[in-house]
Amino acid sequence: MPVSCDKDLSVLSKKDKKYFDSLMMAREIVTKQMNQHAAVALNSGATKHGAVTHMADYGGENFRRDIELQMLTEDGNVVELIEDAIKRLLDGEYGKCVDCDDSIPKGRLEVKPYALYCTKCKSIREKNNGTNPTLD
Ligand SMILES: [Zn+2]
Repeated sequence: MPVSCDKDLSVLSKKDKKYFDSLMMAREIVTKQMNQHAAVALNSGATKHGAVTHMADYGGENFRRDIELQMLTEDGNVVELIEDAIKRLLDGEYGKCVDCDDSIPKGRLEVKPYALYCTKCKSIREKNNGTNPTLD
């Protein structure tokens, strides 16, 4: 589901183009990771006949698969965040905090190009289980 291929990238400023590139790169990396996690999750689920003899081993395999699947889900969310950030970039809305409309610091975007919140709102949300009570 490439969101960007049919878009005219010439609307992007030089700075935005840089963010666009790092978002595309992040998406590629995460997608690759997802494929790897999926492969590991599938492999650990497919036990060879007679290979599983102890319940303890079986439990370990399940645990491992759960973790892989969990990572897969988290990566899926990151892909969504990245897709979303690319859309916002093309709409000229990129780099604004979703909560307070302030600009997200450049340093933060360079580390996490799909960041939704500024540093302040992010720490508010971290203290409040992902919500921002100052919004109402
Ligand atoms: Zn904010």
